[in-house]
Amino acid sequence: MRYEAEVFLHNGYICPCTICQRSTGQPAEITVLIRAGTLRYLKDEPKYYVSSADGKRGFCGTCRSRIVWQALRPDDDWLTNLTVGTLDRPGEVRVTRHIYADTQLP
Ligand SMILES: [Zn+2]
Repeated sequence: MRYEAEVFLHNGYICPCTICQRSTGQPAEITVLIRAGTLRYLKDEPKYYVSSADGKRGFCGTCRSRIVWQALRPDDDWLTNLTVGTLDRPGEVRVTRHIYADTQLP
């Protein structure tokens, strides 16, 4: 699957919340915010599941990689974020925030 989006490269963040732990099978997830309304799928579209009261997660239907988190409320589209590992150049992302740090595993 392929997508394009305008990514805020200096707005990467780590989230070790229990939902991210379960959805990735990892201790934390690293994602990056994008400009609202700029995400377009070029090849295939993600499969989605509602993962909390606030949002849904999209993953690749072929390899099952987690791709995107999107808010359920359209007004919260500015919160759309992509998993850093799915970017073409993930090394350009700067992680500047660590949210839900109280749930981080020791
Ligand atoms: Zn999380």
